[in-house]
Amino acid sequence: MKAPDATVCDLLAQTRHPLLSLEFFPPRDHLGFGVLGSSIERMRSIRPDFVTVTYGAGGTTRELTLDVCRLLRRMGFGPIMAHLTCVGHTRAELETLAACYTAEGLRNVMALRGDPPQGATRFQPTPAGLAHAGELVALLRECLPDTCLGVAGYPEGHPEAPSPAADIAHLKRKLDAGAQFVTTQVFYDNQVYFDFVARCRAAGITQPILPGLLPPFSLPQVERMLQLTRASFPAALREAMTAAGGTGPWAEAVGVHWTVQQIDELLARGAPGIHLYILNRARTLQAPELEDCWERWRA
Ligand SMILES: Cc1cc2nc3c(=O)[nH]c(=O)nc-3n(C[C@H](O)[C@H](O)[C@H](O)COP(=O)(O)OP(=O)(O)OC[C@H]3O[C@@H](n4cnc5c(N)ncnc54)[C@H](O)[C@@H]3O)c2cc1C
Repeated sequence: MKAPDATVCDLLAQTRHPLLSLEFFPPRDHLGFGVLGSSIERMRSIRPDFVTVTYGAGGTTRELTLDVCRLLRRMGFGPIMAHLTCVGHTRAELETLAACYTAEGLRNVMALRGDPPQGATRFQPTPAGLAHAGELVALLRECLPDTCLGVAGYPEGHPEAPSPAADIAHLKRKLDAGAQFVTTQVFYDNQVYFDFVARCRAAGITQPILPGLLPPFSLPQVERMLQLTRASFPAALREAMTAAGGTGPWAEAVGVHWTVQQIDELLARGAPGIHLYILNRARTLQAPELEDCWERWRA
């Protein structure tokens, strides 16, 4: 059994500066680990408060999630939050995976339902599996009582939700089942986050809501992201990126500048930290404007 990590819940309660978390995804095979390792090495200077590793997202191999957790730990990054989804698993398999996470010393899990597998349009629970993230939270709460559990929230609504109010009611159920904080889907317009937080609070949700940001580095990347999420993309940002060529270093600089402005406003107005969907990309993080921004908020 490995020495256990600190929990994100403790960090949220005790850390004086806003938290920064970085999200990694496993490469498709072991060959990709060399590239990922050098990318992680280049992220050292940014000193995240915790890091997260996705599970099976976009068809990536699920067994590699734990390998990326081990790599991050070997390279001195932590605490680590491993994601877990219900896709393709029975309840008994999820219990076994939960035990593996504990044996690895992981004390933070992002509990998710997951997306339908590629080619499928609707999510179908596995026979003897779970239908919603709330059920996974309940299961994990029972078998991992000391683990800090996060769940996903959708400021612009989950694509399958019948209404924004129903979506927030479902989010509240996940939290009532024992999740301790929320990380949001990507958004590019801060007002969307502030309105979401206000609606959550009005619905009785009291837990921290960590905003999730993805620095837009090219218009083709943004288009792919908009297809996957329901995020709206501000016209002013689109115009500025188009004027900067849509892709390449100038467009990337526009994206970083936008993200820095988002971070400054979110933190100035009380967000508990920032979760960056960095897509394993060190270059964006090394932008001096973003590094300066973190230094300011850490000071
Ligand atoms: C921060 C974050 C991290 C992510 N990481 C991953 C990852 O690692 N791997 C991956 O595959 N995907 C990941 N995703 C994507 C996520 O799996 C999808 O968005 C998925 O479609 C929904 O997952 P969920 O956990 O939000 O599901 P749920 O909370 O179960 O919600 C799914 C839908 O069901 C509805 N619903 C929820 N509970 C109920 C209920 N009791 N009755 C009726 N309807 C209900 C909700 O309103 C929503 O429309 C992530 C998303 C976010 C925001």
